[in-house]
Amino acid sequence: MTDCIYEKDCSCIAHTYDRYNKLIVSGKGALCTDSEGNSLIDFTSGIGVNSLGFSDDEWIAAVSSQAASLQHISNLYYTAPQIRLAEKLTARTGMKKVFFANSGTEANECAVKTARKFGNLQSEGRKNRIITLVNSFHGRTMGSLTATGQANLQQNFGPVLPGFDYCPAGDLKQLEAMTDDNTCAIMLELVQGEGGVIHLSREFAQGCQKICRQKDILLIIDEVQTGIGRTGTLFAYEQYGLQPDLVTFAKGIGGGLPLGGVLFGEKTADVLQPGDHGATFGGNPVACAGGCVIMDRMTEEFLQEVREKGQYLRERLSSIPGVCDITGLGMMLGFRIAGKDSKDVVKAALDEGVMLLTAKDKIRLLPPLVITRKQIDKGLEKLMKVAAK
Ligand SMILES: *Cc1c(COP(=O)(O)O)cnc(C)c1O
Repeated sequence: MTDCIYEKDCSCIAHTYDRYNKLIVSGKGALCTDSEGNSLIDFTSGIGVNSLGFSDDEWIAAVSSQAASLQHISNLYYTAPQIRLAEKLTARTGMKKVFFANSGTEANECAVKTARKFGNLQSEGRKNRIITLVNSFHGRTMGSLTATGQANLQQNFGPVLPGFDYCPAGDLKQLEAMTDDNTCAIMLELVQGEGGVIHLSREFAQGCQKICRQKDILLIIDEVQTGIGRTGTLFAYEQYGLQPDLVTFAKGIGGGLPLGGVLFGEKTADVLQPGDHGATFGGNPVACAGGCVIMDRMTEEFLQEVREKGQYLRERLSSIPGVCDITGLGMMLGFRIAGKDSKDVVKAALDEGVMLLTAKDKIRLLPPLVITRKQIDKGLEKLMKVAAK
């Protein structure tokens, strides 16, 4: 069966992914099953999406009942799930407003547009440059691809957008020198996910905020991967003591459905006006009904568990011979195995029955937040076997 699927995929799916030769058919919690009946332990959450694992009962109930009553209506009308979710997000963060999109890249496009309009209106159209970090990842559409500070991802897709500058992470002096009257925003991930699970220092993050405040520049935090409990707090910026002007989120809020958005702070809440921006699918009632379940589950108790399990995972990981360079926060971790290529490790681990991710030359773990300690142990046992080979 897999061979046949593989051939069909090759013949009619654009070859933008280098897939593993495995057909996944179902899942529950942190376990899923392939077409041959093998059980796999999931340390990926579908790249940070399935926060509550596969097939969470409450989430299924919410999205199915919403699909059965109203699956979609345009944003020209009000819908209750969208408003409920926006209330939960603003109440928890103190941010003022939300715009709903369908993905991380879309969320970042909206943040970029907001920042540019904010700056342009202040300056007769001069203050519209945005600084992002070298090695960042903000998405694949032209605006967020331009924001992404990795030349290899932009290669062959030029010309990229004008008005972006890239600063090395950690270099406050350079950042200070790069900001001028034409800078409208600084945009960053607090843990560079795709870039290799590299967390910023608190000093650098706070330094960025200070520069922003001094020069009336907006601080945009891309929490598409770090957000919605992943690092042990609802958003990672809480742990860094920051108060951003714009926060983008996606992956974890969807719980499996396409959902993302932007949170606007005091300064940016009313920048976008009717006609400025939109998304036909944005804030879809089914996706938002699921998002409400995810938000309700992110209690302080739950997040405490995420922090403790993250610590547990990190400790167990560090006891595996060969594991080195562990980085990240909460349940978002990166590491290497000495003398081994990370891609080879991930492939071999899949054969052993554990799903892992890579991030640049690192191995990356983004387990569902509901994974149990037993499942962590089992997954790491399999990894240990691969490391010892
Ligand atoms: C995944 C990711 C994106 C892009 O999200 P998509 O939903 O794939 O468009 C943007 N920013 C960060 C930090 C991400 O990890």
